[in-house]
Amino acid sequence: MSTLVTGIAELVTNDPSRGTGRLGLVTDAAVIVEDGTVAWTGSRRRAPAADASIDVGGRAVVPGFVDSHTHLVFAGDRAAEFEARMSGARYDGGGIAATVAATRAASDDTLRSRLRGLVAEMRRQGTTTAEVKSGYGLTVEDEARCLRLAAEVTAETTFLGAHVVPAEYAGRHEDYVALVTGPMLAACAPFARWIDVFCEPASAHAFDGDAARVVLEAGLARGLQPRVHANQLSAGPGVRLAVELDAASVDHCTHLSDADVDTLADGSTVATLLPGVEFATRSPYPDARRLLSAGVTVALATDCNPGSSFTSSMPFCIALAVREMGMTPVEALWAATAGGAAAVRRPDVGHLGPGARADLAVVDAPSHRYLAYRPGVPLARALAPDDGRPPTGS
Ligand SMILES: [Zn+2]
Repeated sequence: MSTLVTGIAELVTNDPSRGTGRLGLVTDAAVIVEDGTVAWTGSRRRAPAADASIDVGGRAVVPGFVDSHTHLVFAGDRAAEFEARMSGARYDGGGIAATVAATRAASDDTLRSRLRGLVAEMRRQGTTTAEVKSGYGLTVEDEARCLRLAAEVTAETTFLGAHVVPAEYAGRHEDYVALVTGPMLAACAPFARWIDVFCEPASAHAFDGDAARVVLEAGLARGLQPRVHANQLSAGPGVRLAVELDAASVDHCTHLSDADVDTLADGSTVATLLPGVEFATRSPYPDARRLLSAGVTVALATDCNPGSSFTSSMPFCIALAVREMGMTPVEALWAATAGGAAAVRRPDVGHLGPGARADLAVVDAPSHRYLAYRPGVPLARALAPDDGRPPTGS
């Protein structure tokens, strides 16, 4: 069964060999999807025949967004903490404990329905791949439970037992690291592809460089691949540790030294920027321009979580990246698609060349530029061509 997607005013392929510029733009384009995979991409006039067709009515089509950093398994909310912050309180990661308490107290069904609701909310905004972390359980049983639930919705599951040191281990960081790298890792590894750590020496709740190395190396020994939360609140060793261990991605990168930027430029670790966090914590944004000028691969992600960034919208992050971080619309869209795919080392997503997964997002506008040009307007949505149904609203 093949489906022709036509009526595409502007197609972003992210394949420069198939169109114009870095995004590989094709105007008046078509895509043929077969068995969930892109079989053909090009000018509508040259499109081969297919069994069925969908007309998107003169809209833009982009690769579905790859949100490579989220914390979707949790209960409760922290709206009051947000309000306090907007009234002058400082963010230091301490509020994570409130979400941990709510998550431990919640049933599987409560966590599952929240998780599935957020994934559906993401699809309605054009996201077709999402990484999901644990990190609000922080006991052996609760971390394993959160990852088992995450694995129901994505292959990109990340064990983040080293999110913060929970209250019952206050002043006993080493004991908690031993738990994370011992029984917790053993219980979680079957459900996780990645291992992550919040490396932030300036926070009393997080982990310094030595502890982060112990956590990541334990994960590697179990076959998990590393990714790191680093340099969010202050400069520190996290970025250099991530590159040294060939982490797929180092996330936040808000406070970087020149040596950090040089290290990223020489390595293959993606710098994932999370502007929703700076928005929601009223903090200075990372300097994307500095990273791009140095030749670093940059990804954008939402960091969707109830404390520091409760947005599931990749278009919102694109708009922030363009307005606040010095990225062009082309760079921001690339970072939210191909950049995100690089950050989870997935060659099958983030582009629409033949062989890619058929993850198309329709933008209710003639060009991808509208994603930043019309911030806050729900223009993007995931298209499921194999359904044979037209996208909502056309
Ligand atoms: Zn995070």
